[in-house]
Amino acid sequence: MNKAVFLDRDGTLCVDRHYLCRFEEFELLPGVPEALKLLKDAGFLLIVITNQSGIARGYYTEADFRDFTARMEEYLTGRGVSVDRVYYCPHLPDAAVPSLRRTCDCRKPKTGLFERAVRDFDLDLSACYAVGDRLRDCAVCRGTACRGYLVGRTEPESVIRAVSEGEIPGVSYAPSLYDAAVDVMKSI
Ligand SMILES: [Mg+2]
Ligand SMILES: [Zn+2]
Repeated sequence: MNKAVFLDRDGTLCVDRHYLCRFEEFELLPGVPEALKLLKDAGFLLIVITNQSGIARGYYTEADFRDFTARMEEYLTGRGVSVDRVYYCPHLPDAAVPSLRRTCDCRKPKTGLFERAVRDFDLDLSACYAVGDRLRDCAVCRGTACRGYLVGRTEPESVIRAVSEGEIPGVSYAPSLYDAAVDVMKSI
């Protein structure tokens, strides 16, 4: 079996521009290439899981998203790291795009995309980590052996405090993805 780190995209890997789809606005957060290298060298697969309601809302298309993702992957490769897969949810219950209008099982905090990654990559969840700037990015930790890190200051202070005080089972707080990666290195 394999191990992976599930990574949120906006606010975790890159600056959250709200419905980011123009690659010109893509900006990695500090320490991200270094963090990804640490994790990769420790044997983790790097799997991005991202809610893309901008597709459901009609702000950009799935083709736009795939083009963006290809450029992001190329950019990371140029910095010596590569992600293994990017999974995304394009749905919303009230989507402007009729074909994407559904209550799906893949929009975080639903865990459909995590489950798909587990199947696709034969993952042992007890060796995996989830990292994101929203608690929903760590949804897979609920009721499983997967551990998680809430990062950044996106969530309200009350949520950050609760996580920091260990009130959310399996989830810890780290200021950034890099800090989370350093912490992961201590526990493997
Ligand atoms: Mg995010
Ligand atoms: Zn979905």
